[in-house]
Amino acid sequence: MEKILEVKDLEVTFKTYGGEVKAVRGVDFHLMKGETLAIVGESGCGKSVTSNSIMRLIPSPPGKIANGSIVYKGRDITNLSDKEMRKIRGVDISMIFQDPMTALNPTLTIGDQLTEGLKQHQNITSGEAKKQALEMMKLVGIPNPDERLKQYPHQFSGGMRQRMVIAMALICDPDLLIADEPTTALDVTIQAQILDLFGKIQERTGVSIILITHDLGVVAKIADRIAVMYAGKIIEVGSKREIFYDPKHPYTQGLLNSVPRLDIEEDNLIPIDGTPPDLFSPPQGCPFTARCPFAMEVCDKVYPAPSKLSSTHKVGCWLQDERAKHVSNIAGARQ
Ligand code: SF4
Ligand code: MG
Repeated sequence: MEKILEVKDLEVTFKTYGGEVKAVRGVDFHLMKGETLAIVGESGCGKSVTSNSIMRLIPSPPGKIANGSIVYKGRDITNLSDKEMRKIRGVDISMIFQDPMTALNPTLTIGDQLTEGLKQHQNITSGEAKKQALEMMKLVGIPNPDERLKQYPHQFSGGMRQRMVIAMALICDPDLLIADEPTTALDVTIQAQILDLFGKIQERTGVSIILITHDLGVVAKIADRIAVMYAGKIIEVGSKREIFYDPKHPYTQGLLNSVPRLDIEEDNLIPIDGTPPDLFSPPQGCPFTARCPFAMEVCDKVYPAPSKLSSTHKVGCWLQDERAKHVSNIAGARQ
């Protein structure tokens, strides 16, 4: 399988009045063709900043890609000019956001919005653009596309609007689709339908997907692999099976405990105590130390470099690291 994206040692900072925030602190991951990678974590963990960096949508200033590289299909796109990046956005890499209303123009018909991208990037006739728009609307499951094409966004329900946004993102046939919390604004039944739709689209088009979400329940359905982010770092990555059935990082374990399950009463969910560290001055050791029930002295002092547990499973936790035994002061495990 072909590697479509490789992100290496990505660091993103934001200048604020209070100082510099290190929002993404050395993130590595890759994506294969036709694969779905979910990036999961609490709000503020850096997952949206990571995906916005790939699209080069970090407002600069105050934001900055301070280090690292983003390679798309073998081409380093980290430092492309805005002009070059515009050719990539929508055509090679497309993005959809949480709130469909902000992505749609209320004053244009659905048909005009859908064909706009096509006409901009491809030299085709209005008739051909309309034909492709209708096909795309069918693909995303919009009934009566001929009628719907003439309507405005406010005439669509929330779920139908999100289908339209997905159609717009896919109309130029991108190879990579980044979806940032695409179902968060929708009710549960519609959420499930949209997630099914992603699967169907991938089957039909072979598009690779990066799904950004705070909700592990959402990724259970469609992810092939899962990267768990915490305090600007990927602390565990693995296949869906490895993450759901054999999570090794105490934070991942905590996230899974807080996923609502049918057999557990809502009241008995176990949230993770405490809050993530301040990213103005991130800890030098494991960022989860203050919340971790297994923290040892070494955790606070030295960042646990990722340990490779299988060809797909990696975790940054001293509990999984043989070398921890040789680090001094390790005996002082907390109770
Ligand atoms: Fe907990 Fe230490 Fe592992 Fe961090 S490195 S998750 S503090 S055991
Ligand atoms: Mg976000």
